[in-house]
Amino acid sequence: MKSTTNANSSLPRVGYIGLGIMGRPMAGHLLSAGYPLTVFNRTRIKAEPLAAAGARVADSPRAVAEASDIIFTNVTDSPDLEAVILGGADEPNGVIDGVRPGSIVVDNSTVAPATATRIAALLEGKGAHFLDAPVTGGEKGAIEATLAIMVGGDEKIFQRALPLLQRLGKTVLHVGPNGAGQMTKAINQILGAIHLCAMAEALALAKAAGLDLEKTRQIVASGAAGSWMLTNLAPRAIAGDFRPGFKAGLQNKDLRIALEAAAQLGLDLPVTQLARRDFQRLVDMGCADEGTQAIVKTKWNP
Ligand code: NAP
Repeated sequence: MKSTTNANSSLPRVGYIGLGIMGRPMAGHLLSAGYPLTVFNRTRIKAEPLAAAGARVADSPRAVAEASDIIFTNVTDSPDLEAVILGGADEPNGVIDGVRPGSIVVDNSTVAPATATRIAALLEGKGAHFLDAPVTGGEKGAIEATLAIMVGGDEKIFQRALPLLQRLGKTVLHVGPNGAGQMTKAINQILGAIHLCAMAEALALAKAAGLDLEKTRQIVASGAAGSWMLTNLAPRAIAGDFRPGFKAGLQNKDLRIALEAAAQLGLDLPVTQLARRDFQRLVDMGCADEGTQAIVKTKWNP
């Protein structure tokens, strides 16, 4: 482990597990704010920039939990969160194996609401607390610390974590008990995906009609039909830039989560199912690691 350089010893010790597109800048904000930071990433090399800035690099999620009062996680999907929190059957290397009574685990991933409530119950068995705290605002929001963060869990635990969450986002809201944060995020993802499909179909018509795509985008984005997607992602799609902020495969995963949660509540969401069909098609085209703006490829040749 490398030693910290600018940590403030009166602040809680923080851990961050999962240093991908989102996790790395988010962990960086906590380090910059003076929190003593221990990090873990499955692919260790991705931890190097934070190590160079003064973070300790641990060898396992368990070691992060042992070294921290508040442990953040930010991984891909429900089974990945279970892997880092619960560890393997033969390998007691999960957060749960190192967490101390009174510690707080804050999950910034997007996973199934049912996974969040299950993990909360298991951590409670160890005397630790859990907040499901998924985010929205994209890579840009993570870098600029302007994310919206929707938090499920005990209100008093939320208040304890709030100063740290405010380092990561502009809008931080307690939305209910464990699972409510992830359910709110599922609702967010339904809206985002449908807006993306609408953007793709609208641009498909503009292109087929021979309109100037950028001029069309500019005028419709400025009126009642405008959306975050038209403002932020359509310019990239029109320019043929499909590098990921938010990967298409993750959006597809989030639609699966939302549809499963709706089905469990006996709810049919036909428009969301159409969006899922389009994103599944994009993934089947081999574009899972491209940005969600690549959805236009299912409608026209960019
Ligand atoms: P990403 O760049 O692909 O990063 C995923 C991270 O999870 C990596 O650090 C990866 O480790 C780790 N990971 C995955 N499976 C793991 C496992 N089984 N064990 C240990 N570590 C594992 O993805 P991202 O864009 O940062 O997204 C992270 C989460 O935030 C996802 O749930 C996503 O839906 C959500 N989200 C993303 C955005 C966005 O705009 N990107 C916005 C809001 C929410 P390796 O480095 O070893 O692969």
